[in-house]
Amino acid sequence: MNEKQLYRMRAAASGREALAPTEPGSVYVDRETGEEMAPVAKVLPLAPSASSLPRSPENLRACRRCDQLIGLDVSDCPYCGLRQEAL
Ligand SMILES: [Zn+2]
Repeated sequence: MNEKQLYRMRAAASGREALAPTEPGSVYVDRETGEEMAPVAKVLPLAPSASSLPRSPENLRACRRCDQLIGLDVSDCPYCGLRQEAL
């Protein structure tokens, strides 16, 4: 198995950030701005009992319109404004 790690990505010019599964050394391009984003931090899996990180991958979903990762508890996408379905 060769699972990709989830990384916090940042575009140097704009400071935009995103979470993306990638590998060190690979280039991730922001699909909205076309900027290259570089991994700045690895998102670590949580210990089973840890719940202090509200934006851990388990608590995120991708908006079905703009594909940005948003919190499960967010009712409207902060990026494109799309109303999110109730879980
Ligand atoms: Zn959206």
